[in-house]
Amino acid sequence: MAIKVKNPIVEMDGDEMTRIIWHFIKDKLIHPFVDVDLKYFDLGINHRDETGDRVTVEAANAIKAYGVGVKCATITPNAARVKEYGLKQQWKSPNGTIRSILDGTVFRKPIIIKNIPPAVGKWKKPIIIGRHAYGDIYKNVESIVDGPGIAELIFTPTAGGEKKVLKVHEFKGRGVIMGMHNTEPSIRSFAKACINYALSEKKDIWFGAKDTISKQYHGFFRDVFGEEVEKVKDKLQAAGIQYRYLLIDDAVAQVMKSEGGMLWACMNYDGDVMSDMVATGFGSLGLMTSVLVSPDAKYEFEAAHGTVVRHYYEHLKGNPTSTNSIASIFAWTGALAKRGELDNTPEVVKFAGTVESVVIETVESGIMTKDLMLIAEPKVEKFALTEEFIDAVAERLKTIIK
Ligand code: NAP
Ligand code: MG
Repeated sequence: MAIKVKNPIVEMDGDEMTRIIWHFIKDKLIHPFVDVDLKYFDLGINHRDETGDRVTVEAANAIKAYGVGVKCATITPNAARVKEYGLKQQWKSPNGTIRSILDGTVFRKPIIIKNIPPAVGKWKKPIIIGRHAYGDIYKNVESIVDGPGIAELIFTPTAGGEKKVLKVHEFKGRGVIMGMHNTEPSIRSFAKACINYALSEKKDIWFGAKDTISKQYHGFFRDVFGEEVEKVKDKLQAAGIQYRYLLIDDAVAQVMKSEGGMLWACMNYDGDVMSDMVATGFGSLGLMTSVLVSPDAKYEFEAAHGTVVRHYYEHLKGNPTSTNSIASIFAWTGALAKRGELDNTPEVVKFAGTVESVVIETVESGIMTKDLMLIAEPKVEKFALTEEFIDAVAERLKTIIK
């Protein structure tokens, strides 16, 4: 008998190879076992185009309403994609749109499997990166300076009063300039989301910035983050969670030497760069999960990778593919587990955990896609095709859940 999920989950379909995987997962691993009301939004590029991207906004609002969503990877169109899909315009990144509506922070966590050893031998537990996803160089203004002159930063108070003028540099010749910003509410939201995540996962929090060089900008991040931690000091202490502020260089060195197991809160750029390092360090993009958490505790689960377009083109040519579905499966189990937790339905949480264990056991038994076969130890002789891997998981699952 199917396990009943009490409240709905918001489902966002996506593009290309991941869209194909998505439907295999639903048909073979979800629907046969659970009875869940899925609020479906098709975020595939064609449907976003047809709806003038309204569907993305509707999906984000549905996550706000229901609290839990699961999303397939989607195309963020560039000029070439506009042509390829005959789009009306170069629609914005759906993840960016959803993130700004939910005001969320993205947490990326690798899946650890015994026979897929991390490149960094000491890493035993997942290193989770919490990336502040607003501002700094991602909302900058910048310009090439063509010749001698003076660059200044001017702040004009809306309420009137004196302007503040900072001299950036007096140029003798060619150069570059950039202005960037962040806001206190955004940094507070980020800190709160990190604290919520750390509490829910029982992880220590490390936060690093470069406040020795940038005494005000980075110092502001350090102080605001520290204030939010201070507010919930007792709660963190009761949960056995430690907070460490480190200079970013020290944080990098300490992370490399550690066993892992911490939540590493990163400023926007650090998070962008370090999440790729951590993902590669742990093995494969196909093993990296991602969850967007809003300050009012709404959750959106997804795989960290994209639509795996190169594999999709092979698939379109009729060639077999070996695309790793694990991170997409874990997006579903993450959403189900969170739903079960919020609904107080332990049988749903248990099902999600069972699927995750079965996936890991399947790989540990030597059945895996090509990306993992290349790094597995001990070596395996052959790799599973995309659908074969999901079938192997489904077969095992059937023997456990009757
Ligand atoms: P990608 O889909 O992450 O894939 C890059 C490469 O990484 C692949 O070609 C493949 O390497 C490997 N890879 C990634 N995921 C894999 C998996 N599950 N199994 C096996 N190998 C995997 O990035 P992309 O090809 O640069 O981007 C494609 C599209 O995805 C773009 O349109 C981009 O906008 C979009 N995107 C979406 C999201 C999102 O929705 N969250 C995130 C990133 C990118 P090999 O080819 O060497 O096998
Ligand atoms: Mg990056």
